[in-house]
Amino acid sequence: MLVLKVEVEEIVSEVEKMLDRDDKTALRDLKERHRDPFVVLIGTILSQRTRDEKTAVAVNKLFERFKGAEDLAEASPEEVEELIKGVGFYRSKSRSVVEVAKIIRDKYGGVVPSDMEELLRLPSVGRKTANCVLVYGYGMEAIPVDTHVHRIANRIGIVKTKTPEETETRLKEVVPVKLWRVLNDRFVSFGRSICKPIRPKCEICSIKRGCEYYKKVRKKG
Ligand code: SF4
Repeated sequence: MLVLKVEVEEIVSEVEKMLDRDDKTALRDLKERHRDPFVVLIGTILSQRTRDEKTAVAVNKLFERFKGAEDLAEASPEEVEELIKGVGFYRSKSRSVVEVAKIIRDKYGGVVPSDMEELLRLPSVGRKTANCVLVYGYGMEAIPVDTHVHRIANRIGIVKTKTPEETETRLKEVVPVKLWRVLNDRFVSFGRSICKPIRPKCEICSIKRGCEYYKKVRKKG
Protein backbone atom coordinates (compact mmCIF):
# COMPACT_ATOMS: atom_id res chain seq x y z
CA MET A 1 0.00 0.00 0.00
CA LEU A 2 1.44 3.30 -1.05
CA VAL A 3 -0.22 6.41 0.30
CA LEU A 4 1.07 9.73 -0.86
CA LYS A 5 1.15 12.71 1.47
CA VAL A 6 -0.76 14.73 -1.09
CA GLU A 7 -3.58 12.14 -1.04
CA VAL A 8 -3.82 12.40 2.74
CA GLU A 9 -3.99 16.16 2.42
CA GLU A 10 -6.90 15.85 0.00
CA ILE A 11 -8.68 13.41 2.30
CA VAL A 12 -8.35 15.74 5.30
CA SER A 13 -9.55 18.64 3.19
CA GLU A 14 -12.60 16.65 2.05
CA VAL A 15 -13.33 15.60 5.62
CA GLU A 16 -13.28 19.26 6.63
CA LYS A 17 -15.78 20.14 3.93
CA MET A 18 -18.11 17.41 5.13
CA LEU A 19 -18.17 18.54 8.73
CA ASP A 20 -21.16 20.61 9.60
CA ARG A 21 -21.00 24.31 10.32
CA ASP A 22 -20.75 23.95 14.07
CA ASP A 23 -17.83 21.61 13.79
CA LYS A 24 -16.05 23.93 11.38
CA THR A 25 -16.59 26.85 13.71
CA ALA A 26 -15.10 24.87 16.53
CA LEU A 27 -12.19 23.88 14.35
CA ARG A 28 -11.56 27.25 12.75
CA ASP A 29 -8.55 28.10 14.78
CA LEU A 30 -7.01 25.40 16.85
CA LYS A 31 -5.03 27.99 18.76
CA GLU A 32 -8.26 29.27 20.26
CA ARG A 33 -8.69 25.89 21.82
CA HIS A 34 -5.28 25.79 23.43
CA ARG A 35 -5.79 25.61 27.10
CA ASP A 36 -3.84 25.22 30.25
CA PRO A 37 -1.78 22.02 29.81
CA PHE A 38 -2.81 20.91 33.30
CA VAL A 39 -6.50 21.22 32.41
CA VAL A 40 -5.87 19.31 29.17
CA LEU A 41 -4.00 16.60 31.06
CA ILE A 42 -6.63 16.11 33.75
CA GLY A 43 -9.49 16.51 31.27
CA THR A 44 -8.07 13.84 29.00
CA ILE A 45 -7.64 11.42 31.91
CA LEU A 46 -11.27 12.05 32.90
CA SER A 47 -12.43 11.59 29.30
CA GLN A 48 -11.22 8.00 29.08
CA ARG A 49 -14.29 5.80 28.39
CA THR A 50 -16.61 8.73 28.99
CA ARG A 51 -18.87 10.77 26.73
CA ASP A 52 -17.71 14.30 25.96
CA GLU A 53 -20.69 16.00 27.56
CA LYS A 54 -20.11 14.24 30.86
CA THR A 55 -16.39 14.94 30.73
CA ALA A 56 -17.03 18.64 30.12
CA VAL A 57 -19.34 18.88 33.14
CA ALA A 58 -16.82 17.10 35.37
CA VAL A 59 -13.88 19.22 34.16
CA ASN A 60 -15.82 22.43 34.72
CA LYS A 61 -16.86 21.43 38.22
CA LEU A 62 -13.37 20.27 39.11
CA PHE A 63 -11.64 23.45 37.96
CA GLU A 64 -14.25 25.69 39.49
CA ARG A 65 -13.25 24.18 42.80
CA PHE A 66 -9.50 23.67 42.24
CA LYS A 67 -7.41 26.22 40.39
CA GLY A 68 -4.44 24.09 39.40
CA ALA A 69 -1.99 21.36 40.34
CA GLU A 70 -1.02 22.82 43.72
CA ASP A 71 -4.64 23.11 44.73
CA LEU A 72 -5.74 19.72 43.44
CA ALA A 73 -2.75 18.00 45.05
CA GLU A 74 -4.20 18.95 48.44
CA ALA A 75 -7.64 17.51 47.69
CA SER A 76 -8.99 14.31 49.10
CA PRO A 77 -10.03 11.72 46.50
CA GLU A 78 -13.50 11.67 48.13
CA GLU A 79 -13.94 15.38 47.50
CA VAL A 80 -12.86 14.93 43.90
CA GLU A 81 -15.22 11.95 43.50
CA GLU A 82 -18.20 14.15 44.29
CA LEU A 83 -17.24 16.60 41.57
CA ILE A 84 -16.50 14.10 38.80
CA LYS A 85 -19.22 11.56 39.55
CA GLY A 86 -20.61 11.66 36.01
CA VAL A 87 -17.51 10.14 34.38
CA GLY A 88 -16.78 6.45 34.06
CA PHE A 89 -14.55 4.89 36.73
CA TYR A 90 -14.78 8.11 38.72
CA ARG A 91 -13.45 6.52 41.91
CA SER A 92 -10.18 5.34 40.42
CA LYS A 93 -9.92 8.50 38.31
CA SER A 94 -10.30 10.69 41.40
CA ARG A 95 -7.32 8.94 42.97
CA SER A 96 -5.36 9.22 39.72
CA VAL A 97 -5.89 12.94 39.21
CA VAL A 98 -4.90 13.77 42.78
CA GLU A 99 -1.80 11.61 42.38
CA VAL A 100 -0.96 13.27 39.06
CA ALA A 101 -1.43 16.71 40.64
CA LYS A 102 0.97 15.80 43.44
CA ILE A 103 3.62 14.65 40.96
CA ILE A 104 3.22 17.79 38.83
CA ARG A 105 3.56 19.92 41.95
CA ASP A 106 6.43 18.05 43.59
CA LYS A 107 8.49 16.81 40.66
CA TYR A 108 7.81 19.40 37.99
CA GLY A 109 7.31 22.55 40.05
CA GLY A 110 3.66 22.81 39.07
CA VAL A 111 4.36 22.81 35.32
CA VAL A 112 3.14 19.92 33.16
CA PRO A 113 6.08 18.57 31.15
CA SER A 114 6.00 19.15 27.40
CA ASP A 115 8.01 16.02 26.74
CA MET A 116 6.50 12.68 25.71
CA GLU A 117 8.83 10.52 27.83
CA GLU A 118 8.13 12.55 30.96
CA LEU A 119 4.40 12.59 30.35
CA LEU A 120 4.35 8.81 29.97
CA ARG A 121 5.83 8.45 33.45
CA LEU A 122 2.65 9.91 34.96
CA PRO A 123 -0.01 7.49 36.23
CA SER A 124 -3.01 6.98 33.91
CA VAL A 125 -1.18 8.67 31.05
CA GLY A 126 -0.76 6.74 27.80
CA ARG A 127 0.32 7.97 24.40
CA LYS A 128 -3.09 9.39 23.47
CA THR A 129 -3.29 11.50 26.61
CA ALA A 130 0.34 12.60 26.30
CA ASN A 131 -0.19 13.58 22.67
CA CYS A 132 -3.33 15.54 23.61
CA VAL A 133 -1.27 17.54 26.11
CA LEU A 134 1.36 18.25 23.45
CA VAL A 135 -1.20 19.32 20.82
CA TYR A 136 -3.96 21.00 22.81
CA GLY A 137 -1.89 22.18 25.76
CA TYR A 138 1.33 23.21 24.05
CA GLY A 139 0.40 23.54 20.37
CA MET A 140 3.15 21.10 19.40
CA GLU A 141 3.20 18.79 16.38
CA ALA A 142 1.83 15.42 17.49
CA ILE A 143 -0.98 13.04 16.57
CA PRO A 144 -3.27 11.87 19.37
CA VAL A 145 -4.79 8.59 18.23
CA ASP A 146 -8.06 7.60 19.85
CA THR A 147 -10.60 5.03 18.66
CA HIS A 148 -12.02 7.42 16.02
CA VAL A 149 -8.64 8.22 14.49
CA HIS A 150 -7.57 4.56 14.57
CA ARG A 151 -10.83 3.33 13.01
CA ILE A 152 -11.12 5.99 10.32
CA ALA A 153 -7.48 5.83 9.21
CA ASN A 154 -7.85 2.05 8.79
CA ARG A 155 -11.23 2.24 7.07
CA ILE A 156 -10.00 4.76 4.54
CA GLY A 157 -6.85 2.73 4.01
CA ILE A 158 -4.30 5.35 4.99
CA VAL A 159 -2.94 2.75 7.42
CA LYS A 160 -3.35 -0.96 7.97
CA THR A 161 -2.71 -1.37 11.66
CA LYS A 162 -3.93 -3.31 14.66
CA THR A 163 -3.29 -0.88 17.51
CA PRO A 164 -3.54 2.90 18.05
CA GLU A 165 0.21 2.94 18.75
CA GLU A 166 0.96 1.41 15.33
CA THR A 167 -1.50 3.85 13.78
CA GLU A 168 0.29 6.80 15.33
CA THR A 169 3.64 5.61 13.98
CA ARG A 170 2.27 5.02 10.49
CA LEU A 171 0.31 8.27 10.40
CA LYS A 172 3.46 10.19 11.20
CA GLU A 173 4.98 8.69 8.05
CA VAL A 174 2.10 9.50 5.70
CA VAL A 175 0.52 12.67 7.09
CA PRO A 176 2.26 15.97 6.28
CA VAL A 177 3.57 17.51 9.52
CA LYS A 178 1.48 20.63 8.98
CA LEU A 179 -1.64 18.47 9.46
CA TRP A 180 -0.55 16.56 12.56
CA ARG A 181 -2.09 18.97 15.05
CA VAL A 182 -5.46 19.13 13.32
CA LEU A 183 -5.86 15.48 12.33
CA ASN A 184 -7.26 14.33 15.66
CA ASP A 185 -9.78 17.16 15.73
CA ARG A 186 -10.99 16.53 12.18
CA PHE A 187 -11.22 12.76 12.45
CA VAL A 188 -12.90 12.80 15.86
CA SER A 189 -15.60 15.17 14.53
CA PHE A 190 -15.93 13.10 11.36
CA GLY A 191 -16.14 9.89 13.43
CA ARG A 192 -18.94 11.28 15.54
CA SER A 193 -21.01 12.72 12.73
CA ILE A 194 -20.43 10.57 9.61
CA CYS A 195 -17.87 7.79 9.86
CA LYS A 196 -19.49 6.37 12.98
CA PRO A 197 -18.29 3.12 14.56
CA ILE A 198 -21.55 1.37 13.65
CA ARG A 199 -23.43 2.11 10.42
CA PRO A 200 -21.20 4.86 9.02
CA LYS A 201 -23.08 7.23 6.71
CA CYS A 202 -21.17 6.18 3.60
CA GLU A 203 -23.99 7.33 1.33
CA ILE A 204 -23.28 10.98 2.14
CA CYS A 205 -19.50 10.61 2.37
CA SER A 206 -17.53 12.38 -0.35
CA ILE A 207 -14.43 10.21 0.00
CA LYS A 208 -16.16 6.87 -0.46
CA ARG A 209 -14.65 6.28 -3.90
CA GLY A 210 -11.22 5.98 -2.35
CA CYS A 211 -12.31 4.30 0.88
CA GLU A 212 -11.21 0.70 1.41
CA TYR A 213 -14.05 -0.03 3.82
CA TYR A 214 -16.66 1.25 1.38
CA LYS A 215 -15.20 -0.76 -1.47
CA LYS A 216 -14.95 -3.98 0.51
CA VAL A 217 -17.86 -3.86 2.92
CA ARG A 218 -20.56 -1.33 2.11
CA LYS A 219 -20.68 -1.56 -1.68
CA LYS A 220 -21.25 -5.30 -1.53
CA GLY A 221 -23.99 -5.04 1.09
S1 SF4 B 1 -17.07 5.82 2.92
FE1 SF4 B 1 -17.97 5.22 4.87
S2 SF4 B 1 -16.36 4.11 5.95
FE2 SF4 B 1 -15.41 5.25 4.28
S3 SF4 B 1 -14.71 7.16 5.22
FE3 SF4 B 1 -16.73 7.52 4.35
S4 SF4 B 1 -18.18 7.14 6.02
FE4 SF4 B 1 -16.21 6.23 6.61
